[in-house]
Amino acid sequence: MSTVCQILSEERFDKESIVTLLMSEGNDRELLFAKAAEVKHEYIGNKVHLRGLIELTNHCTKNCHYCGIGASNKKLQRFMVSLPEVEEAIQFTYANNYGSLVIQTGEIQSESFTQIIEDILFAITRIGKGKLGVTLSCGEQSIRTYRRWKAAGAHRYLLRIESSDRNLYYKLHPNNKKHNYHIRLEALKNLQKCGYQTGTGVMIGLPFQTIENLADDLLFMRNLNIDMCGMGPYIEHVDTELYKYKDLVPTKKARIDLSLKMIAILRIMMKDINIAATTAMQTLVDGGREMALVAGANILMPNTTPGLYREQYALYNDKPGINEEAEDSKQSIEKLIIRAGCVASYGEQGNSIHYTKRIK
Ligand code: SAH
Repeated sequence: MSTVCQILSEERFDKESIVTLLMSEGNDRELLFAKAAEVKHEYIGNKVHLRGLIELTNHCTKNCHYCGIGASNKKLQRFMVSLPEVEEAIQFTYANNYGSLVIQTGEIQSESFTQIIEDILFAITRIGKGKLGVTLSCGEQSIRTYRRWKAAGAHRYLLRIESSDRNLYYKLHPNNKKHNYHIRLEALKNLQKCGYQTGTGVMIGLPFQTIENLADDLLFMRNLNIDMCGMGPYIEHVDTELYKYKDLVPTKKARIDLSLKMIAILRIMMKDINIAATTAMQTLVDGGREMALVAGANILMPNTTPGLYREQYALYNDKPGINEEAEDSKQSIEKLIIRAGCVASYGEQGNSIHYTKRIK
């Protein structure tokens, strides 16, 4: 029996074993994906849950070295989708029976921003007749703000740790109060305290990132007992600090391979959590989201941001869906899901089974 075969049959997920799985090739690699498919089939089934994604604003007060919408990028035109436009997007999600939606933004901490999100949450409850699941992805906020948004109708929150390794974290962010590893970690724990279905994730294939770092990331997620995960490949953006290290970035193929393995391993480690097939996967390779679904993901987030604004929400270069309002149409999403051998779930919130069991 090969080492990989042994690790998989014993479900031995210490750091060394995870590294072995991340480096697996050929038949061993196939075994990993087969096991992930088996686990997914048993614990999740082949349903894909949908979340209409609204990229609400690219205003951001941070300067993360990898991200295209950082405050110091003066080339960018800043936008905030207006409430009537947001209501239209909510209506679209509701009419298409997607069951859930996600509001994602740059990072802003202010009373007026808190209020804007709160008003959107009220609008979601009103338009969706209280049936839509709501995920927020609006960065680090005070526990008071998290509580307020929860009370206003939010169910889930995605806050990626980006990298669980402190040293790498500070290579990716300026080392100052606004970009503090411990504060981000505290924020994640606060979300759990507030009772959110809590998600985190990392970027994969970053300059300076090692396979050991990625193994630690998976262990971090398990230790934190997260309910959801969104992770995907790092993609360069020319107007960012990190761009100068572009030669240290693994090839697209390697980043896709690592991302798929991360999803597959996490699926086996945390069987009943929700895992997203992210847009970044799609950016690196056509069909990337299908591949993620096959590897173990079960969540898809069709973009419902008004087309006008999409170009300005460029976290990284070559982001798809720009200028193509129909790119993520119901039809194309449905075809994608079928290609992955899955079925789209309509009219269900698609809450994390892990969370549902956890709170019982
Ligand atoms: N401001 C919110 C949402 C950020 S955007 C927050 O901090 O939680 C959502 C995610 O996009 C980020 O968490 C990051 O992981 C990812 N992202 C940003 N720049 C990226 C890049 N260059 N390549 C790949 N993913 C990127």
